[in-house]
Parts: sequence; C-alpha cells; structure tokens
Amino acid sequence: MRICVIGSGYVGLVTAACLADFGNEVTCIEKDQKKLKGLSKGKIEFRELGLDGLIKRNKAAKRLIFADAKKSERSISDADVIFVAVGTPHLKNGAADLSYVHQALKNISKGISGCGTEKFRVIVIKSTVPAGTSDMIERRYKIKNAAIVSNPEFLREGHAVSDFLHPDRIVIGSENKEASNLLSELYRPLNARIVFMSRKSAELTKYAANSFLAARISFINEISNICEKTGADIKQIAEGIGYDKRIGTSYLKAGIGYGGSCLPKDVSALIYTAHKYGEEAAMLKSIDKVNEAQKQRFTKKILKALKKVKGNTVCIWGLSFKAQTDDLRDAPSIPIIKALLEKRCRIRAYDPVSNKKAWKEEPRVKYLDGPYKALKGADVLAVLTEWNEFKMADLAKARKQMNHPVIIDGRDLIDKEKARQAGFYYEGVGTP
Ligand code: NAD
Repeated sequence: MRICVIGSGYVGLVTAACLADFGNEVTCIEKDQKKLKGLSKGKIEFRELGLDGLIKRNKAAKRLIFADAKKSERSISDADVIFVAVGTPHLKNGAADLSYVHQALKNISKGISGCGTEKFRVIVIKSTVPAGTSDMIERRYKIKNAAIVSNPEFLREGHAVSDFLHPDRIVIGSENKEASNLLSELYRPLNARIVFMSRKSAELTKYAANSFLAARISFINEISNICEKTGADIKQIAEGIGYDKRIGTSYLKAGIGYGGSCLPKDVSALIYTAHKYGEEAAMLKSIDKVNEAQKQRFTKKILKALKKVKGNTVCIWGLSFKAQTDDLRDAPSIPIIKALLEKRCRIRAYDPVSNKKAWKEEPRVKYLDGPYKALKGADVLAVLTEWNEFKMADLAKARKQMNHPVIIDGRDLIDKEKARQAGFYYEGVGTP
C-alpha cells in the first residue's frame, strides 16, 4: 500500500519505519526543517531502541522517504492511507491543543481536493485527541471519498519499535467498513488482536488507558507515603498486591511522580473534557494532585537532608522522565531542579542521554559528562531516573567524591543495605 504519515516524532517515525518494513511505500512528512534535514541524512533527533536500523534499511530499499510538509500534496494524494501523528500538547486550561491536527488536515484536504482522482482513501487519526474530534474533522473538512478513522497509539517511549510490532491490541474506531478492512489488512503482518469500536469510543479509550496508568502510579505513591510513616515497605506491598490476578504487577512502582509527554497531558485533557460535559472528574483531579505533591515531597526530602549537613550542593543523577529515553517533556526532574534553584541550591547533574536537552530547559545547572564527575563536592546525591548505571554504581568511589555521604533515592534504585555499608545516609521511597 501507499502510506503517508504526517509528523515525524516518536509516534510518526516509528509508525512510518515499521509500515515500510512490512513492504509498504511510505512517505513521512515533517514541517520542522531541522528535523527533516537530519532525517534525510538518517539522523534521528531522539533515542529509540532499534529505530536507527529500521530507518536505514527501509531508506536504502527506497520504501521510506521524507518530505517537507510544504511540498507534500503529491505524497498525500498518492496515498491509500494517511496517518496523522502530530503532537497534541495541552493548553494552559488543560484542553488538548488541536492546532497541529488542523494544520495537518488542511494539508490533507488541499492535497486530495487538488489532485483530481476519486480513489477511496483512509485518513487515520493516530494522535491522541478528545472524543468527538474525528466527527468534527469529518464535518469541517468534508473530504471527498475519504473515511476518517481513529486508531490511537499505545506505544511506550524507549520500547516504541517493539511495542508497535507486538501490541497488546490495536484499537480501530471506524464508522466505515471499507476503511476498517483496509486498516486490518495493513496491520495483518502483526497478527495482533484488533478491537473494533466507534470513533468516539476509540478516542476515549486512549485517554482512559493513560489515566488508568496514571491512577496506578498515584495510588502506589500515596500508599508509599503511608509506608514511610508506618514503617511498612512499599516494595513488599507492591509484590503482595501485584500477584493478585485482578490487580497485576505493572505500574506499581513508587517514585517521584509520573511525567513524560503523555500521562500528565492526557489526564488534564480528560478532566477538561469531563468538565465540558458537566462531569466533576473527582478521581482524575486527585490523580493529578497526588502526582504534583509527590514531586514536592521529594524536593522537601532533599532540602531537609541539606539542612542537616549544612550544605547546598545537590548532584542529580537522571534527568529524562524515565530510563531508555532522552525525553524531558514534563519530566519531574525539571520542576524539582527549579524548586531547588529557588532555594539557592547549586546543582550538578548527569544523565546518560539527556544532558544536552536538559541544558536548553535549565541552563543554570552544571551538566557533567559522567556520574562520578557530577558528584564532586556534592552534599546530597538525588537519584531521579532509573538508569541501570546508577543501580550498579560503585558506592565507595561515589562517596570519595562527595562532601557529605547522603543519598536521597527517588526511584528506590540503589541497594539501601550496600549504601549504608558504604557509609551513606540513605533515604528511598516508601521504605522505613
Ligand atoms: P512529537 O512532538 O514527537 O512529534 C510530532 C511531530 O509532528 C513533530 O516533529 C512536529 O514537527 C510534526 N508536525 C506537527 N505539525 C505538522 C504538520 N502539519 N505537518 C508535518 N509535521 C508536523 O509527538 P509524539 O510524541 O510523536 O506524539 C504524537 C501524538 O501521539 C500525540 O498526540 C501523542 O499524545 C500521541 N502519543 C504519543 C506517544 C509517545 O510516547 N510519545 C505514545 C502514544 C501516543
């Protein structure tokens, strides 16, 4: 099939590369000139396991090409299936910003109306959009001989290629049988379970899934706070409840609160939608409130430790919102660092992949190119991202670099017994 993917970010690029690998002819359209120039040379702006090789192989086979959004009309009109995978960040009021989606639809509309051919096309909304968006697009753009389908994406950053190729399920929200069949055929190589539903249900499924994951994180964080007060251990509790089949083990790791480009914005957008329809959304609001408080709680732990040792230098290990990605969008590290800077702390930081991106967010921090270099003269080590290299750190070496041997571990990553044996004061999450 001929495919066009609009937007070459985490979702668009992975979708385009994987579909090209199935033998389709794919054009990936991007409006950001810098990104486009890099992609044409095979350079990807973000880190994603396995994506590099997929892109190289399919570019060489001429099944994957990149095009400028301004010159995309031909690629759009030639395509059988057009994916919209542009960003939908949240506005100040929490609502999803659909301006990029509209821009993409204007391009699609122009490309199709100007081409003169009447062939049937499927326009697939892969971006996360509020319930009713596909209906609105259909009414507003009235694109001839085309069906609008909602096909939300569930991949995780850091595992995006593997998640795309081995999905738990594919959700297709469609009111048009021909379009459903065409998409099913496109996804046939995956041998995946496909759940068909209405477009509105598909759109809301995505928000429900992310809000549910966020709820699990806020829940376990709240229980971990009770553990800290009562002397119970959150790891033991997560295991104790997780083996219950009705509960399951995933997303039960206590920490410093969730972040990233999806969970925070999707919870906000769902609250906005609920309010728009007169619903209170009390539980969704609590998920967000607990998450904000968790970041502040961690900052307070660092400040308390600094006060004890009469120091002000904090070494941060880990900046990206989770391991295996360099993404800093809505990463808890940024508000935590800003809050510490406000309290006149000096910050030295190290992340194996996102130092450069972090510098653009917060230039007042001193970014070092190694974990032990970053520790030099620190009064407190704060662990923010669960990278394996921190888990396996040489604690004796770490201690030698520091002014005071204090670890405040937001991910409960470092073995607390080993830390104490190495002479550290250690404080994790949800442990006595
Ligand atoms: P992103 O910001 O990484 O990528 C979007 C890309 O689209 C950018 O490169 C941008 O320049 C480009 N773009 C915007 N308007 C364009 C236009 N008119 N023409 C061509 N290019 C255009 O975003 P992302 O993380 O890939 O997310 C995309 C969507 O998928 C969002 O709605 C997001 O919520 C959803 N989603 C993201 C993830 C994730 O893990 N990142 C997972 C599932 C779903």
